[in-house]
Amino acid sequence: MKRWKRLYGMSATFVCPYCLRTLPISESTVEHEPPRSRQYELGRSKTMLACKRCNNQKGALTAAEYAEWKRLEFIRNGGLSR
Ligand SMILES: [Zn+2]
Repeated sequence: MKRWKRLYGMSATFVCPYCLRTLPISESTVEHEPPRSRQYELGRSKTMLACKRCNNQKGALTAAEYAEWKRLEFIRNGGLSR
Protein backbone atom coordinates (compact mmCIF):
# COMPACT_ATOMS: atom_id res chain seq x y z
CA MET A 1 0.00 0.00 0.00
CA LYS A 2 2.65 2.50 1.04
CA ARG A 3 4.80 1.38 -1.85
CA TRP A 4 1.98 2.11 -4.33
CA LYS A 5 1.38 5.50 -2.83
CA ARG A 6 5.06 6.41 -3.06
CA LEU A 7 5.10 5.23 -6.64
CA TYR A 8 2.09 7.18 -7.83
CA GLY A 9 1.90 10.04 -5.36
CA MET A 10 -1.17 10.89 -3.32
CA SER A 11 -2.71 13.04 -6.05
CA ALA A 12 -2.70 10.28 -8.67
CA THR A 13 -5.78 8.35 -9.65
CA PHE A 14 -6.38 4.73 -10.60
CA VAL A 15 -9.22 2.86 -12.28
CA CYS A 16 -10.78 0.10 -10.24
CA PRO A 17 -10.88 -3.03 -12.45
CA TYR A 18 -14.23 -4.11 -10.98
CA CYS A 19 -16.45 -1.01 -10.93
CA LEU A 20 -14.38 0.96 -13.49
CA ARG A 21 -14.57 4.11 -11.38
CA THR A 22 -11.62 6.48 -11.47
CA LEU A 23 -10.62 7.21 -7.89
CA PRO A 24 -7.79 8.89 -6.02
CA ILE A 25 -5.00 6.50 -5.18
CA SER A 26 -5.75 7.09 -1.49
CA GLU A 27 -9.00 5.14 -2.03
CA SER A 28 -7.15 2.11 -3.34
CA THR A 29 -6.52 -1.17 -1.60
CA VAL A 30 -4.23 -3.97 -2.65
CA GLU A 31 -6.38 -6.74 -3.99
CA HIS A 32 -5.27 -10.36 -4.36
CA GLU A 33 -6.57 -12.36 -7.29
CA PRO A 34 -7.34 -15.17 -6.73
CA PRO A 35 -7.96 -14.41 -3.04
CA ARG A 36 -5.09 -15.29 -0.73
CA SER A 37 -7.41 -17.35 1.44
CA ARG A 38 -7.96 -19.69 -1.54
CA GLN A 39 -4.36 -19.93 -2.70
CA TYR A 40 -4.20 -23.63 -1.88
CA GLU A 41 -7.20 -24.29 -4.14
CA LEU A 42 -6.49 -21.80 -6.92
CA GLY A 43 -2.75 -21.20 -6.93
CA ARG A 44 -0.57 -18.18 -6.29
CA SER A 45 -2.33 -14.86 -6.36
CA LYS A 46 -1.19 -11.69 -8.06
CA THR A 47 -1.83 -8.28 -6.64
CA MET A 48 -3.53 -5.28 -8.17
CA LEU A 49 -5.29 -2.17 -7.02
CA ALA A 50 -9.02 -2.14 -6.41
CA CYS A 51 -11.28 0.30 -4.61
CA LYS A 52 -12.20 -0.36 -0.97
CA ARG A 53 -15.85 -1.01 -1.78
CA CYS A 54 -15.11 -3.68 -4.39
CA ASN A 55 -12.36 -5.27 -2.35
CA ASN A 56 -14.73 -5.59 0.62
CA GLN A 57 -17.58 -6.93 -1.49
CA LYS A 58 -15.36 -9.36 -3.35
CA GLY A 59 -13.98 -10.91 -0.17
CA ALA A 60 -12.98 -14.51 -0.86
CA LEU A 61 -14.55 -14.61 -4.33
CA THR A 62 -12.49 -14.86 -7.49
CA ALA A 63 -12.81 -12.10 -10.09
CA ALA A 64 -15.13 -14.32 -12.17
CA GLU A 65 -17.32 -15.17 -9.18
CA TYR A 66 -17.47 -11.52 -8.17
CA ALA A 67 -18.49 -10.50 -11.70
CA GLU A 68 -21.29 -13.07 -11.54
CA TRP A 69 -22.35 -11.82 -8.08
CA LYS A 70 -22.48 -8.25 -9.39
CA ARG A 71 -24.56 -9.38 -12.37
CA LEU A 72 -27.05 -11.07 -10.04
CA GLU A 73 -27.12 -8.02 -7.76
CA PHE A 74 -27.92 -5.89 -10.78
CA ILE A 75 -30.85 -8.15 -11.71
CA ARG A 76 -32.06 -8.32 -8.08
CA ASN A 77 -32.04 -4.53 -7.97
CA GLY A 78 -34.33 -4.32 -10.99
CA GLY A 79 -31.71 -4.09 -13.74
CA LEU A 80 -32.07 -1.14 -16.08
CA SER A 81 -35.72 -0.52 -15.18
CA ARG A 82 -34.83 1.08 -11.85
ZN1 LIG B 1 -14.36 -0.73 -7.43
